[in-house]
Amino acid sequence: MLHKYDPRSQKAGEFISHKEIMDTLDYAWANRSNTRLIDEILAKGRECKGLTHREAAVLLDCAIPEKNHEIFRLAEEIKEKIYGNRVVLFAPLYLSNYCVNGCLYCPYHAVNKHIPRKKLSQDEIRQEVTALQDMGHKRLALEAGEHPVMNPIEYVLESIQTIYGIRHKNGAIRRVNVNIAATTVENYRKLKEAGIGTYVLFQETYNREDYERLHPWGPKSDYAYHTEAMDRAMQGGIDDVGLGVLFGLSLYRYDFVGLLMHAEHLEAAYGVGPHTISVPRLCKADDIDPRKFKGGIDDETFAKVVACIRVAVPYTGIIVSTRESPEVRERVLRLGVSQISAASKTSVGGYAGEAAEDTSQFERHDTRSVDEIVRWLMELGYIPSFCTACYREGRTGEVFMGIAKSGNIHLRCQPNALMTLKEYLMDYASPVTKEVGEAFVREEVGKIPVERLREITLRYLGRIESGERDLRV
Ligand code: SF4
Ligand code: SF4
Repeated sequence: MLHKYDPRSQKAGEFISHKEIMDTLDYAWANRSNTRLIDEILAKGRECKGLTHREAAVLLDCAIPEKNHEIFRLAEEIKEKIYGNRVVLFAPLYLSNYCVNGCLYCPYHAVNKHIPRKKLSQDEIRQEVTALQDMGHKRLALEAGEHPVMNPIEYVLESIQTIYGIRHKNGAIRRVNVNIAATTVENYRKLKEAGIGTYVLFQETYNREDYERLHPWGPKSDYAYHTEAMDRAMQGGIDDVGLGVLFGLSLYRYDFVGLLMHAEHLEAAYGVGPHTISVPRLCKADDIDPRKFKGGIDDETFAKVVACIRVAVPYTGIIVSTRESPEVRERVLRLGVSQISAASKTSVGGYAGEAAEDTSQFERHDTRSVDEIVRWLMELGYIPSFCTACYREGRTGEVFMGIAKSGNIHLRCQPNALMTLKEYLMDYASPVTKEVGEAFVREEVGKIPVERLREITLRYLGRIESGERDLRV
């Protein structure tokens, strides 16, 4: 059937229907000043049960200043209610920038001849991970270009095993999320068996026409295969998946709706929505000039996008990278972002000090150290968290969503955030951060609302003080 829209279908053209997106955009635009409808949507949003893509699109297009103010306030309330004041920290680890694809927006595209190509050996991975552990990181996102010869699945699996096996002083990487090219059900099964956390794959853009223009050759040029990757990941047993678009490639309103339709599809077809949504904006890089793309969004629009995602999918973590400046990060943290990368190097081999920055995938606008970010977060009233507890306690997929939707996940996040912060303060913090942090932890423990949890946390903090590590609830 022409223009069939079916969120349960496993065909990309049916769960991401171009016609449904265009109809949604018309509907949203026509209702951008419809106070009654916007009030109804806001009231539904307040129940923390999420919104449909149509409802969320109306909020995104809302042209009434007071209502926009309410949308931002509601996003802040939902963020606070569901996630509390913890902010999870992670770092990307680039394994290899060999790539056979031709993505027009990425410097790793196959025909870029000025960028040095590099693939980390297992020894180099050990050096990188040791450097990351020395910064205090516990959670990584693995990144690699698509290259069947240089970066086969066996290389990725071996690298994951290497990373989990590295113990350096009190350090350990406790959760490895993986961002590699769309692959087969069988390969997703192998990734699951290797113990990955979230499988992350950015759609880049949901607009098929733009997608095909931006990916002129290579395996990634197959829109349907790429868009159906999360279905194969779910079939391979991976139940935590992370979506994202690269804002700036196509029209942001289109991609906003596509992203939410993709989330609805995962929920309808597999009973579990995306674990995370990333909101990168196109950045300058070698051979890449963001001005050449048509859909760049300013900071205000970016903040609105984050706020509307927060209201639309309250239980999905939102991730912002070091592509954004400290000022923008501060704003979107209030509006719904729950995870940020810290002290990232976006080059292959960047942490151990060997790599030249000219292998970077994108320019970073937040170059602060982990220590500076930890202190900055505490000064803003957030608990910097290195927590990986849910994945390690088997709270993934539907089980995780069940706890999250009961509205109780923050009861675990808060103690775990404080315990992992305490570990950081003991093992890695500078004297000034340690001083600020110890007082901050004492104050925050007192705010844990459930007495039993408060007592456990205090007891565990004492055990961490005495040298134990990796305690969690
Ligand atoms: Fe390769 Fe990914 Fe860059 Fe495309 S975005 S060129 S697939 S590394
Ligand atoms: Fe994430 Fe679970 Fe830790 Fe909360 S308790 S920060 S949801 S891993």
